[in-house]
Formats: sequence, C-alpha cells, structure tokens
Amino acid sequence: MRHQIISLYKKADMKGFAIGAFNFSTNEILKGIITAAQKLKAPVIIATSEGERNFFGCDESVAMYNVIKKKYPYVILHADHTHSFQEIKKVVDAGYPSVHFDGSKLQYRHNIRETKRAVDYAHANNVFIEGELGSITGGSTTHKEKLKDILTDDLLTNPSQAKEFVELTGVDSLAISIGNAHGIWKDKPKLDFERLKQIKEQTGKFLVLHGGSGISANDFRKSVELGINKININTELRIAFAHALIKGLHTREDYTPYKYLKNVSPTVSKIVEEHIIIFKTNNKI
Ligand SMILES: [Zn+2]
Repeated sequence: MRHQIISLYKKADMKGFAIGAFNFSTNEILKGIITAAQKLKAPVIIATSEGERNFFGCDESVAMYNVIKKKYPYVILHADHTHSFQEIKKVVDAGYPSVHFDGSKLQYRHNIRETKRAVDYAHANNVFIEGELGSITGGSTTHKEKLKDILTDDLLTNPSQAKEFVELTGVDSLAISIGNAHGIWKDKPKLDFERLKQIKEQTGKFLVLHGGSGISANDFRKSVELGINKININTELRIAFAHALIKGLHTREDYTPYKYLKNVSPTVSKIVEEHIIIFKTNNKI
C-alpha cells in the first residue's frame, strides 16, 4: 500500500494539487467527507487523531475504511498526530496504511531517534509515514488569543535542519511549521512562503500543511504551488458538525436520530467540497 500512496503524492507534486486530509470522529462526518470526494472525483485522506480514534474505535475506523474502499477505492486512512511508538504500533497492527509520528514536542535529537524507530516499523509493514519538525501549536478548536503573539520564530521549521531530519529518519513526508497553527484564532495565520520554498528545495520531500482551518484560499493555492502536497482540515468540520447538530436538535419534531441528524453530513460535505476545489483535487482519480 505504501507505494500506491507514494504514487498519489508524486502525482499531486507533479500536477500541482494537494490531497485534502479530513478528520472524523463520527460516522456523519465520515459520510460527509466521502460523499464530497465521490461527487468531485477526488482522492481523499480520512484521518483520526489519537482522541478521535479512541472515541470512534481504532479497529472500527479500519473496518469502516475497508467498507468504504470497496465502493470508492480512492481513500486513504491516516493516523494523525501519533505521539508514541506504542501508538504507532497499535495503528499499524490494526491496519492503518498511513501514519503520522509527531515527535515535534521532543528535543531535536530525541525526535530524530523516535521518528526513525517509528519509520522502521511502518516501512517494515508497508505503511506510509509522515514526520514532523517544528511545532504546530494549538488544538483543533477556536482560540481566544492572537496567533502572532504565540508563534515565535523558534517554533518554525528550520530548512537545513529539515534536510538533515528527513535524511536521518527516512520519513515519506514531512509536516512543517511555517506560521500555520491548529484551530481558528483571533487573527489570520501569516504563512512564511520563503521558508516553505527553502524547505522544499532543501528536502525535496512531500510536505504537509497542518492547521488548514483559517487559512485563505489564496494562501492555500500559493502553498500548493510552492510544494505542499497534503493539507489537513479539522476544526471547520467540527464547527459545521456542531452547528448542524444543534440546529437539528432545535427544530426536531421527534426524537428520531435520522431526522435531527439528517442535515449534518450534507453540511460537512459542503465544507469538504469547497476545500477540494481550492486544493485542485477534483477530477484527479
Ligand atoms: Zn495537525
């Protein structure tokens, strides 16, 4: 499976589109993502963070992925932000074809060691693996602070360090910090495109932009032009899900879940469709 995933990233890199990675923790969100991808003929990554897969179930995520793949094979299940070797082992053994080892909170040399350990296990099992260098701050929610007060230069990815990091660890792709952050903040994120350009030149690797919620369409397009191959979207789907659910509960006529939940998947789908168009992933299957 790893080589098929690498082929898709290569195609994205050559043709100038980015694969959208959308997180889910409920079946309604998952359905919304798949419906949008199918409609627009887009390859898509469905992702779960540690918290999300604890809630949905790790084996259950893999089971749903296998069911979906039979109807729509252009889907990749990905374990987002996995912080320990134990958890990497758990998701690889469960059948995730793609994983993200996030050692960005570790000291640099420690991050290299732990990432290498995760890479060796993933590759031995034919699994694609993303590493992370530079700290991507915040959780996937709305924040009261201004991002510019929090994001200091030392949190951003250093291009020459990134080159060394990918060489020593052997990761398939790299999540970078160029002014992006998780969640939605009081101010708009200001991306450091010069830094992105240098990281791409130095590493020649597939690059990942986390914290896509809150970034403008123009900044997304420019990021893709400069070498971003995968973009993660979570917070906007969570907000869409919550609003559609609250509205459904307020307007319900009875307690039938499929009635008050009926607009949840279409609302999530709309957000996914908008991003697929911006990332130019439509008609790429
Ligand atoms: Zn992330």
